[in-house]
Amino acid sequence: MVPYKEALEEIFKSISLEENKGEIAKYIPELEKVNPDNFGVYFSTLNEEEYGLGDWEKKFSIQSISKVLSLSLAYKILGASIWERVGVEPSGNAFNSLVQLEADLGIPRNPFINGGAMVICDLLISNLKNPKEDFLDYVRKLSNCPNIEFSESVAKSEKKIGYRNIALCNFIKSFGNMDNHPDEVLDFYFNMCSIEMNCYELTKTFTYLKDNNFKTEDGEKVLTSSQVKRINAIMQTCGFYDESGEFSFKVGLPGKSGVGGGIVAIFPERYCITVWSPRLNEKGNSYRGMNFLEAFTTKTQLSIF
Ligand code: GLU
Repeated sequence: MVPYKEALEEIFKSISLEENKGEIAKYIPELEKVNPDNFGVYFSTLNEEEYGLGDWEKKFSIQSISKVLSLSLAYKILGASIWERVGVEPSGNAFNSLVQLEADLGIPRNPFINGGAMVICDLLISNLKNPKEDFLDYVRKLSNCPNIEFSESVAKSEKKIGYRNIALCNFIKSFGNMDNHPDEVLDFYFNMCSIEMNCYELTKTFTYLKDNNFKTEDGEKVLTSSQVKRINAIMQTCGFYDESGEFSFKVGLPGKSGVGGGIVAIFPERYCITVWSPRLNEKGNSYRGMNFLEAFTTKTQLSIF
C-alpha cells in the first residue's frame, strides 16, 4: 500500500513552515477579501481512502476549475460536435489573449482559455432549458453535494470589472462563433466561475474523472470512457494557463487550476486531490498548490508517467 497519509502530512507540514510567496488575485475585487494564508488539501483514492488537511472545509471561489465541468456537460449533451467550435491545443498565450483569437478567426484554442469557456457557455445556453440552474444541478449531481451554490457577490464583482472578458465575448460573436447574445453568455460565464466549494466538495465533484466506472447516485454514467480520457488529456495539456508544460513536467498529472487558488489533480483510476492556497505565482497558479503536488508525486514516486 502506498503510504499516502504520511506523505500528505509530511508535505503539508513542511510547506506550512516555508514562506508563502505570491499574490492573491486582486483583479476581481471580491477575491481580495480572502485570507491569503488559507491552506487546505483533500485527497481521495479509488477505494475511498480519504484525508483532509488544514482548511479543507472552507469554501472558496473555484473560478476556472468550473470550466472542466461546463466542458463535460457540453460534451455529454453534444458529443464530438463541440470540437467544431473550440480547439484542443495549448494556447501558449495568456488565458485572456485577444491577439490569438484574432489569428485563430474566433475559434478559441481550447475550452479552458476564457474565450473557449465562453463558447462552451454559449453551447450550454442553447441546449439547456434553464442554463444556470441546470448547470448547478449537474454539478450537485456529480458531487452529491446539494449545497453547492454560485456566489452572487463574486459574480457581480467580476461583472463590474470584466472589460477584457466582455471584449473577448463580443470578439467571438463578431467572428460568428456565438449563437446567443454576449450579455447572456457573460452572465452564465461569470456565475459559473463564481461557484464556491471546499476542497472536499471539489474532490468529490471530480470523481467522474478519477473513476472510469463512476455513476451518479441515480445510476447515471455521465461520460463515456473515451470522453473521460479526452477531458483528462486536455487538463494535462491546457489546465494551467501558460504554465501547463511546467505543471506536467513537475507534477505529471492532469489537473486544472483557478485564480481563487484552487488546484484539482487527477491520477486516473487511483486518486483525486484538491489543494487550495490563494497566493498565486506569476503565471496565476497557486504557489503552494504547485509545490505541494510536485512534492507529493515525487515522494510517492507515482505519476501517470
Ligand atoms: N473568472 C475568471 C476570469 O475570467 C476566471 C479566471 C481563472 O480562474 O482562470 O478572469
